[in-house]
Amino acid sequence: MKVLIARLNHETNTFSPVPTPLEAFGEHGPDYDEAAYRANHGQRTAMAAFIDLAQARQAALVTPVSGWAYPSGPVAADAYEQMCARIIAAAPGCDAILLDLHGAMVAEHCDDGEGELLRRVRAAAPGVPIGVALDLHGNVTQAMMDNADVIVGFKTYPHVDMYETGDHAGRLLFDMLDGRCRPILAWRQLPLMTHTLRSATGQGAMRAAVEAAGRLESQGLLAVSVLAGFSLADIERPCISVIAVADGDAAAADRAAAQVAAQIWDQRDGFVYRSDPLDASLARAVGMAAGQDRPVLLLDHGDNCNSGGTCDTTAVLEAALAKGLGGILAGPLCDPEAVAQLIAAGVGARVSVPVGNKRSLAHLGIHVRPFVLDGVVRTITDGQYRISGPTYTGMLCHMGRTAVLDTGTACLVLCERPHEPWDLGVFESVGQDPRGARYLLLKSRMYCRPVFVPISAGLVECDSPGATTSDYGIFPYRKRARPLYPLEPALYDGR
Ligand SMILES: [Zn+2]
Repeated sequence: MKVLIARLNHETNTFSPVPTPLEAFGEHGPDYDEAAYRANHGQRTAMAAFIDLAQARQAALVTPVSGWAYPSGPVAADAYEQMCARIIAAAPGCDAILLDLHGAMVAEHCDDGEGELLRRVRAAAPGVPIGVALDLHGNVTQAMMDNADVIVGFKTYPHVDMYETGDHAGRLLFDMLDGRCRPILAWRQLPLMTHTLRSATGQGAMRAAVEAAGRLESQGLLAVSVLAGFSLADIERPCISVIAVADGDAAAADRAAAQVAAQIWDQRDGFVYRSDPLDASLARAVGMAAGQDRPVLLLDHGDNCNSGGTCDTTAVLEAALAKGLGGILAGPLCDPEAVAQLIAAGVGARVSVPVGNKRSLAHLGIHVRPFVLDGVVRTITDGQYRISGPTYTGMLCHMGRTAVLDTGTACLVLCERPHEPWDLGVFESVGQDPRGARYLLLKSRMYCRPVFVPISAGLVECDSPGATTSDYGIFPYRKRARPLYPLEPALYDGR
């Protein structure tokens, strides 16, 4: 038995000015063949689970590609074509195909990255069962549904069940091959654009939806997935979906998908996020910090590189300094030019440097200029650190060359690559103690929370102008369907 296993993950923010060339899909571009196998085997990815299942059956493995890139703008057309071509070329002659995909990939020339890939794979290997694991933020399409035999999405956000999702999808596909089940898929997509801050599975309407899906699975459905979708994509339907998989019973699959979708629609306001004005958020943070010996977290969700943010805006820092906040530790902020200037000046040097706001956001109507900061260079490192946990424990991270600028009221970690603050290491590796700060300014929505919330006195979500702002009104959508809630009043009749 021969099994094709591949991973191609990108969440595309079509409004992001950050480019997505082939090199973005790994430390030095995607991993191919043996390297793709090594990059996943023993890890916690969905692809790792596919590998374990196939090896347990003594199957021969073909692993043409494994690529993962930070969320950013549309994938370069040649990058998409090259990675897809490797998968498609490997498909003929295989007995099963297992793909670890995101579900919200847009390429420069193709709005439905995964649907088009699956269509081509099916055409290259007609009749070969295809199983797919998707990120919870996938934007599902009819082409994806038409060209896969099994689809299972993550059940958690922050995502901690990537391996389990791969295991679930892979088991169903192998059971199908063995004649032990006959998966039939049904889906519903709602005219509802959810907000990333409302897709955390531990609370609110999203939690209720995932729990409803879980109950249906415990009642005998093979899989029921809630895919919150990714709204920062100008495609026809950047919307929430439900996919149900039943064993040989199309009506049961359809009923399950409809039932969860109806519940989501009834609770649709629970997926909508409304920001406070930045000044009000900062005032709340000041109140929260009073009398505390732990830092208050300022989460700058308008510029989160894990959703396509440039990781270089300074609106929250500027507002906090203007409001008189002190004891701020901020970062990482991506500014290769400023890093080079700090390195040239050297540790201990007093400098005046223009920082951040260097990627143009003019297409979103945001006009910014670098923020000039005076301070002392405290640290210079190669920007490498190993994650201490609890998420991605042990993974080696590369921020690019990194430097710390200390202005007296704020210490700013500047680096050469966009980097999510998902570990204390982003600060500790450059000699800064996050526990000793009064305010921790993090360009993050969700990933910082398991690590930084436990050391904090509380958190305040701070909206700011950026490529991941919560104000959908600034995004020039041209392709999306209308009406979509909450931008317009919408009706849903898919019960
Ligand atoms: Zn996601």
